[in-house]
Amino acid sequence: MRGLARTKLAKSIHDAGWSAFVSMLEYKAKLYGREFHRIGRSVPTSQMCSVCGVVDGPKPLSVRTWTCGACGAIHDRDHNASLNILAPGRAERLNACGGDVGPGAIQAGPGEAGTRRRDVA
Ligand SMILES: [Zn+2]
Repeated sequence: MRGLARTKLAKSIHDAGWSAFVSMLEYKAKLYGREFHRIGRSVPTSQMCSVCGVVDGPKPLSVRTWTCGACGAIHDRDHNASLNILAPGRAERLNACGGDVGPGAIQAGPGEAGTRRRDVA
């Protein structure tokens, strides 16, 4: 694989490696009862302030720490990106009532607010 990664197939090889890694991660998460979510590749996780949500714009990889122009928060690039990746996963995990909304449909509990039943005549 290392040899193929040096050819013009490098992008495909690395994509296949990443895909296998993500598949294993998904499998392990399911095995151990953990949540697994994917976020879009286009989400600017390292450019977005994890405090106020403002997208500060692209930065070269050499910029490891930056200050948000909107709220003044000082971010470590990787830690900020990890918070931006975690946020949508947490948002999907629970609904406002604390019930699961996460992968797949679940049956509504008896006390959960929902559609009023019609009276059957
Ligand atoms: Zn900010």
